[in-house]
Amino acid sequence: MSGPWKNPETIVLHAGHRRDSATNAVAVPIYQTTSYLFDSAEHASKLFALQELGNIYTRIMNPTTAVLEERMAALEGGVAALAVSSGQAAEFAAIQNITHAGDNIVSSTDLYGGTWNLFANTFKTLGIEVRFVDPADPEAFVRASDARTRAWYAETLPNPKLQVFPLAEVAALGRKIGIPLIVDNTAAPLLARPLAHGAAIVVYSTTKYIGGHGTSIGGMIIDGGTFDWAAWPDRFPMLNQPDPSYHGAVWVEAVKPLGPIAYILKARVTLLRDVGMALSPFNAFQLIQGLETLPLRIRAHCANTQAVVDYLVKHPKITKVIHPSQQTGEYRRRADAYLKGGYGGLLGFELAGGVDAGKGFINALELFYHVANIGDARSLAIHPASTTHSQLTVGDQLKTGVTPGYVRLSVGLEHIDDILADLEQALAKI
Ligand code: PLP
Repeated sequence: MSGPWKNPETIVLHAGHRRDSATNAVAVPIYQTTSYLFDSAEHASKLFALQELGNIYTRIMNPTTAVLEERMAALEGGVAALAVSSGQAAEFAAIQNITHAGDNIVSSTDLYGGTWNLFANTFKTLGIEVRFVDPADPEAFVRASDARTRAWYAETLPNPKLQVFPLAEVAALGRKIGIPLIVDNTAAPLLARPLAHGAAIVVYSTTKYIGGHGTSIGGMIIDGGTFDWAAWPDRFPMLNQPDPSYHGAVWVEAVKPLGPIAYILKARVTLLRDVGMALSPFNAFQLIQGLETLPLRIRAHCANTQAVVDYLVKHPKITKVIHPSQQTGEYRRRADAYLKGGYGGLLGFELAGGVDAGKGFINALELFYHVANIGDARSLAIHPASTTHSQLTVGDQLKTGVTPGYVRLSVGLEHIDDILADLEQALAKI
C-alpha cells in the first residue's frame, strides 16, 4: 500500500494510508487497543504460526504504528520498518537482532553519548564487544573485524564534530566480507539516504526531526532488504539456523513468500515479543503528524542554520564555526556527496572566552531553549563542556570534539531575524 510515489513530499502524506477501513477516516486513527479479536481458533493459530499476517497484540504490531512504519520505509527506500519506543531501543534491537554473547560489532567513535554508553557499558555486560574505530579511515573497519563481527555501526552526521560518515566507502567494504552497515540517520533525515549508498539497515531516534515538535519519544529500524543474510550462514546463524524461540523457524527461509524481510520480521516477532519496547499508538500518531511536514521543515531548518552560520563566522567573539558548510578537503567532499538539499539543522561554535563565556552565553539566551534535545521546531542550545560532557576529563572532551567554549545549536523554525537577534543580544552580554 506504499503507492507509486517517489517524492518525499507525497510519500509522507500518502504512503501506507488512504482511509480507515472501518470508518473511512482520512487522518490516521489512533488504535488505542492492546488486543485484536481473532475470527476463530484456526485464524488465531495461523496468525501465531505466521501463516497469515495480521494483528495479534500491540506489543508486536498496531494499525496506527503500521502506517508510521510503512511511511518511513517508503521514505527511506527500504522494504519494511519496525517502530520502537525510543532511538536507544532502536539501536539496541537493531544490533541484538543479529549479535549474541561472544560476538562483536565495530563502531565509529563519533557517536551520540547515550549510544556510546549502550555500546561501551551495557553491551559489555551482555557479552557483546564493541570495537571503536576512527571513521576518517574506512579500512579501519575491516582491520577491526573478525569471524565474530556481526555488524558495523555509524551515525551519518554525528555531533559535535558534524563530520559526515563515509557511507558508500564503508558499506562497500562490509558487503565484500558479509558485514552489514547499520546507520543512525537521526540528524539528517531526507538529506542523507544511507540505504542508497549501501547501508543495510537504518535506525532513527524519531524523537528528533521526524516528530519535529519535541512531544514524543520514539525510534525506528528500517530494513533496506538488500543484504543477503543467506549468503553468509556462518556469520548470521540467528537468521540461517532454526530459531528455538519460534518453533524452529529459519528466518531466511520462513520469509521467502513475503520478500527480503528476514531481519526485520525476526526483530518484530522475537525481540518486540520478548523485550517489549513497543511504541505507544498515541506516540505513533504524533510522529505521523510530524512526518507529514518533514520535507518542509527540514528545508527551513537548513536555511535558518545556514543563515546563522553566515552570521557567526563574521562575529569577533567567535573563533570557529563547526558546520559541514565550513569544512574543506575530504570532510567537505563527504558532506557534498552524502547530504543533498542542505547541511542540516545543527551547528557548533567556539567562543574565545572558554567555559565562562559558554555558560554566560547560554544564560543570556532569551529565545533559544537550554535543553539536551535536538530537532525541535524551536531553537535549542547547550554548552556541552558544563553539561552533557562534564563527566569526561578535559582530554576526553577534546577527543569527542568538545572544547571548553563549544556551544551547540539546533536551529529551529522561528523567523530568522528573531533567531539572529537573540544570538546577537546574548553575544553582546559576554
Ligand atoms: N541517536 C542520536 C543521533 C541521538 O541524538 C539520540 C538522542 O539524542 C539518540 C540516538 C537516542 O534517541 P532517543 O532519545 O529517542 O532514545
